[in-house]
Amino acid sequence: MPISISIRTDSRIDMIDITSMVQKKIMDAGVTDGICVVYVPHTTAGITINEGADPAVCMDIMTRLDELIPRNGSYRHMEGNSDSHIKSVITGSSITVPVERGHLVLGTWQKIFFCEFDGPRSRKVYVAFG
Ligand code: ZN
Repeated sequence: MPISISIRTDSRIDMIDITSMVQKKIMDAGVTDGICVVYVPHTTAGITINEGADPAVCMDIMTRLDELIPRNGSYRHMEGNSDSHIKSVITGSSITVPVERGHLVLGTWQKIFFCEFDGPRSRKVYVAFG
C-alpha cells in the first residue's frame, strides 16, 4: 500500500505547498536517511519545487503558464483540457529530495508544491522512500 496524501483543490489552477505534509510522512515512516520521491499520478496536475517565501512567485508562475499555454487554444484533444495536460508536462510528475536525519533537505527558500491545472478536484500524491 503506497503512502499517499489526499489533496482537495478549489480552483482550476493553483500551487499548493505540501512540504509539511511530506515531512510528516517521513516522520510517520521513521525514515532517517535516504531519498524521498513525491509522485503525482495525474495527467493534468504536476509537482515542482520552488520559492515558498513570497506567494507572488507562485502567482507569477501560474499567470505566465496561462499566458504561454492558454485554456482556449487550437488543440485536438476533445476533453477541453489540453492546456492542463501541457502544463503538467512542464512541471513534471515527480520530484526527488534527499532526507537527512529525518528531514527533507531543501534550500532555504524551497518548498514542495502540488500543481493543479484542471481543478477543482480531489487529488492524490504518493510518497516513497529509498
Ligand atoms: Zn484530457
